[in-house]
Amino acid sequence: MQLNYIANASLPSSSGRTIAMLDPSDGQPFDEIQRSNASDIDFAVRAARQSLEAVWRKFSPAERGRLLMRLSLKVTEHAEELALIEQRDCGKPTRQALADAAALARYFEFYAGACDKLHGETIPYQDGYSVLTWREPHGVTGHIIPWNYPMQIFGRSVGGALAAGNVCVIKPAEDACLSLLRVAQLAAEVGFPAGAINIVTGYGHEVGDALARHPGIDHISFTGSPSVGTLISQVAAQRHCPVTLELGGKSPQIVFADADLDAAVPAIINGIVQNAGQTCSAGSRLLVDHVIYESLLERLGHEFEKLRVGPATLDLDLGPLIRQSQQQRVWDFLSDAQVANIEMVAQGKVVDEAPQTGFYQAPTLLRDVPAMHRLAQEEVFGPVLVAMSFRDEDHAVELANATPFGLVAGVWTAEGARQFRMARRVRSGQVFINNYGAGGGVELPFGGVKSSGHGREKGFEALHGFTTLKTVAIKHG
Ligand code: NAP
Ligand code: MG
Repeated sequence: MQLNYIANASLPSSSGRTIAMLDPSDGQPFDEIQRSNASDIDFAVRAARQSLEAVWRKFSPAERGRLLMRLSLKVTEHAEELALIEQRDCGKPTRQALADAAALARYFEFYAGACDKLHGETIPYQDGYSVLTWREPHGVTGHIIPWNYPMQIFGRSVGGALAAGNVCVIKPAEDACLSLLRVAQLAAEVGFPAGAINIVTGYGHEVGDALARHPGIDHISFTGSPSVGTLISQVAAQRHCPVTLELGGKSPQIVFADADLDAAVPAIINGIVQNAGQTCSAGSRLLVDHVIYESLLERLGHEFEKLRVGPATLDLDLGPLIRQSQQQRVWDFLSDAQVANIEMVAQGKVVDEAPQTGFYQAPTLLRDVPAMHRLAQEEVFGPVLVAMSFRDEDHAVELANATPFGLVAGVWTAEGARQFRMARRVRSGQVFINNYGAGGGVELPFGGVKSSGHGREKGFEALHGFTTLKTVAIKHG
């Protein structure tokens, strides 16, 4: 049975209750986590505050950096162990789980190097004054983490917050906590002081809500659904607590007739099958120049038919979805497609070895999806790619911007001027030209506009969000 991790100690919840963890590959229970409550959150926030005031504030930026670097190396040493845990917990194929552990180590490495490079400014002002700015940590930051990439999202949000001098209380998704509980132990082993990293598990509406409401939380980083993002914002607004929201997307892959399709096709496939489509930045809408629409769909159809889905340890193109309700969500979208007579171009296959009780879904390519249909508007969060054609550049921009979201866009074209025009005209936090995701580099700031959220994580930019600016004006005559 797994325990909470608070002040460098493994502790049961005061509720005395637990939640069973299911392996998505076979749907069977294999472990239990604590079903924590508001008093566990209160205990963790107090431990964090005490650590901040008594210990963590006294660490120099260089000392924080050294600790983060030690944690990065420790995570690399334990990468296989962490990947195995995450694989069982989240159904990730082996390569994805290992990539996530590597990304976690890389986040700590990047933020280790950033700690002592974050500085304020001096500002020229009236005669007789000296003015300077300091970047100060918020204090105790709260982190609500989704189930799709627990290690990666922990790395980018907790790594950045610690680098900036905050201490952290973390609420992982109840479906995906196990790797993070282990990382918190590793952090204690490399010397993080008690209370710097605290993990409290449980249901979102119980323990997540208690975290967001706690008056001792000075900043909230939330990654998840738009609807819960709204709840978090409302709760935080009651006490004017700053919030960073990363709420997913309905990101377009925009393919012009002059695109290098040998480069585009594998990136389009990977953009929707990675992590079985359960990726906030999934390229889930395919917008194609009408001139190449039929030929590209035919080519993609052949590729989709080759895709294989199965248990995480078989390391196929896709593993299972996280849980039964997510599988049901994808089925609901696909049955809506049938009702609307939306044509399926092709589907991959679930392999025979996949247990019936696992949460599998074959990747599916749909065509001529009306731009206003919910399949083209809402996040499916599964391996479903919806295709539509455009007449010209203006039409491509209109379609690209025609959802409530604005997270990522991929643009495929050889023409330099069009690359820049498209990058300017598409409303999203990131635009990738002739690539999709740029390999996920931790250096690259990441976040959304519109319903995809606000604030930026990753890169150096995240440190601005995890600090507040203090202006100091000295009158010296
Ligand atoms: P979710 O409900 O928004 O969950 C995200 C996190 O928020 C989890 O840790 C969740 O905890 C917690 N949470 C839930 N209700 C809360 C509340 N009232 N107060 C505070 N925290 C709360 O997302 P989901 O149900 O897992 O997935 C639903 C949809 O969200 C997906 O289909 C997808 O569209 C979107 N999503 C987006 C991302 C992304 O990266 N942008 C990631 C995941 C999901 P529990 O899970 O323990 O309840
Ligand atoms: Mg799980």
